Amino acid sequence: MKSSRNKAGDPAAKTVAGEARQVQVAIDLIELGARLQLLQEETTLSRERLLRLYKEVKGESPSKGMLPYSTDWFMSWQPNIHASLFMDIYRFLVMHAGIEGVQALISAYRLYLDQMHGIEESEPILSITRAWFLIRFFKAGMMQLSPCKECGGYFVTHINELCDNYVCGICHPPARAGKTRAARQAALDVVGQTL
Ligand SMILES: [Zn+2]
Repeated sequence: MKSSRNKAGDPAAKTVAGEARQVQVAIDLIELGARLQLLQEETTLSRERLLRLYKEVKGESPSKGMLPYSTDWFMSWQPNIHASLFMDIYRFLVMHAGIEGVQALISAYRLYLDQMHGIEESEPILSITRAWFLIRFFKAGMMQLSPCKECGGYFVTHINELCDNYVCGICHPPARAGKTRAARQAALDVVGQTL
């Protein structure tokens, strides 16, 4: 019987071309800043090969720190705007560009970085490892996109949140946010371009 598994059991990954594709995926992910655990989950390459590849690409060993597991990070003001932008891009690619899995993650994250570089003084605060977790939280039914009743954009929320009167962090930025108006306009521009 043929296995449709996409991981180590996949015979296609054992061919030279299949392995070359795996190495390319790993290099793309490393260049985008992925943590080692993400590489292990998303490729069929051994931990030893991934470690070597990581050192070759980055010139240093991967971080051994804890992975960012928490869903709460995505709910604070700026992270929520960045995460929502990323999910908008990701969802668009999956629905309309016919790509999925790790390729959708890589393409969506590159587009997210492009958007961030286009805005003055904005840093891409969503790491690819967090973006990867975000997709997992969506697939696990822990998070969803909810429409803001003021701007109509879609934003990341917890699945059990009451969203009838949801107002996003762009329309209602916290008072402590410095440069609020500029940030609001920049974020609106980004969301406008994406939708
Ligand atoms: Zn809004």
